[in-house]
Amino acid sequence: MNVTPVFDGTIAISISETRKSRDAAADIIHEGAHGLDDQKRGRSISSRNERKETEVNAYTAEAHFQKAENYATSFNDGWVPGLGFSQEKVKKQAESSILVACGQSTAGSCGSGEQP
Ligand SMILES: [Zn+2]
Repeated sequence: MNVTPVFDGTIAISISETRKSRDAAADIIHEGAHGLDDQKRGRSISSRNERKETEVNAYTAEAHFQKAENYATSFNDGWVPGLGFSQEKVKKQAESSILVACGQSTAGSCGSGEQP
């Protein structure tokens, strides 16, 4: 992967055609979607519902990238060659990320967002 600043406010990212670079690009797109959500929200995530919303957006963006590149890393991905896009799988991916981040916690942004 090669990141080139263009000095016009944009950044060009060149990615070679290997599997590993494609996975890195998918990660950048996923995390970039979170960054866009953070900018729109203008504050940190405050609830489990907001976590779910931004994870669904991020996995949806990732699925569109996977469709464009015609590849998947597993049959559980949001887009799989031959199977297409699955909102159900995107939601499951989002839930898995929340489980990794929050575990069984219901505190802070892992909770309802209501003040105790
Ligand atoms: Zn995420």
